[in-house]
Amino acid sequence: MGETTTKQGKVAMIGTPCHMIAASKLDRFSDILGESPIDIKIGLFCMENFSYSYMKKLLEKNNIDMNDVKECRIEKNSLWFYLKEDKVFKIPLEKAKSCVRKNCNICMDFTSELSDLSVGSVGSQEGWSTIIIRTDKGFELVKNAENDKYIQTKPIEESGLKLIKNLANKKKKENLSEITKRERVGRPVIYRRQMPITEFTEEVSKCQFKDLKGDVIDIGACVLCGACDFICPEGIIKIEDRKPQIKGKCPEGCNLCYVACPRTYIPDDILSKDADKKPLGDYIKIISAKAPILKGQDGGVATALLNYALSKKLVDDVIVVDKSTSEAWKPESKLTKNVADVLNAAGTKYAACTIFTPLKELNKGNGGV
Ligand SMILES: Cc1cc2nc3c(=O)[nH]c(=O)nc-3n(C[C@H](O)[C@H](O)[C@H](O)COP(=O)(O)OP(=O)(O)OC[C@H]3O[C@@H](n4cnc5c(N)ncnc54)[C@H](O)[C@@H]3O)c2cc1C
Ligand code: SF4
Ligand code: SF4
Ligand code: SF4
Repeated sequence: MGETTTKQGKVAMIGTPCHMIAASKLDRFSDILGESPIDIKIGLFCMENFSYSYMKKLLEKNNIDMNDVKECRIEKNSLWFYLKEDKVFKIPLEKAKSCVRKNCNICMDFTSELSDLSVGSVGSQEGWSTIIIRTDKGFELVKNAENDKYIQTKPIEESGLKLIKNLANKKKKENLSEITKRERVGRPVIYRRQMPITEFTEEVSKCQFKDLKGDVIDIGACVLCGACDFICPEGIIKIEDRKPQIKGKCPEGCNLCYVACPRTYIPDDILSKDADKKPLGDYIKIISAKAPILKGQDGGVATALLNYALSKKLVDDVIVVDKSTSEAWKPESKLTKNVADVLNAAGTKYAACTIFTPLKELNKGNGGV
């Protein structure tokens, strides 16, 4: 396998379940990818995501300009767009299906099973978020943020818990059937072939960008996370036309993008073969929570926890996803030390985001990789 080094410096990241898989691979393979800067992983619940350009076109067909959208929510099986002048436009999710990214149909994780903490709206009352506490690190973060009054918590109701489990099971069932269908027609979904680490090492040993293209990008499995772009030591991956492209030649022996990608093979010490038997993955506790002052998508909890991690210097930087300044509602990830950036990024942008790309800034500060 190829080798690189990454500057140390702790980062807290927010992201969808597929982002959490990539972050877990960066951590697991730090011996070859370089030490991962990601220290705290806050995952979001995610049933599906949308193509920004398809969504924009769909709105345009209905005479709606993205610039007029003030807020976007998924509720009661519809996508709701809250517009200027107090107007509201809604599309039933069934009708918005054509805008769902193809890679989401093979995703088996609703609740970010590989994170320290998972945050979602399902399961809690309006104005509150659900938190699944998965690790001791996540437990401490929530406990301390509550003690310091960044968040308040309460037990989750039994009906809420049941709803989360039902949705997680539904996603796994429906998408397993799509995976089986793709496998049957020769479009293998290789990230679901969890294997022992020795087998993994052998499988990926000779794989380079051309294999990433064939095994992931060309078959509609790429989640557009930017992990390949971040990790490439040659800096030759560019995300253009909504997919990673190569602008140069791979040196012999380098396979780093293939190793880091969340949609290539995954060793079973990251994602166990039994993962799908537990609808919500492993966890310590599930609660409802909200930030007392902050306005977020739901309880503002994701923002409050990132704010807490930064303000208390538990991390040096955080990655958040804000809206692009040039294209309304287009998600844009940002690595920042600034609490104001974290607060500005509150709210869900329903489109894919190359969340790992800004981590390249850490390498620049270190003289490059
Ligand atoms: C694509 C997508 C689909 C989702 N689907 C569901 C669902 O089906 N059911 C459910 O219960 N919850 C879902 N969520 C989570 C939900 O929308 C809220 O983000 C969550 O409840 C946290 O609310 P909050 O008020 O605590 O967050 P806030 O305090 O508002 O913070 C939201 C955080 O999300 C980050 N963010 C925004 N957009 C993106 C993005 N595209 N990718 C990565 N990070 C982003 C921002 O950086 C911000 O830090 C989804 C989120 C996303 C991004
Ligand atoms: S692949 Fe799609 S559905 Fe799965 S976590 Fe990523 S954005 Fe969400
Ligand atoms: S694109 Fe080539 S050089 Fe860059 S990480 Fe992949 S295999 Fe290595
Ligand atoms: S090909 Fe690159 S952008 Fe796509 S899922 Fe893999 S690492 Fe992420």
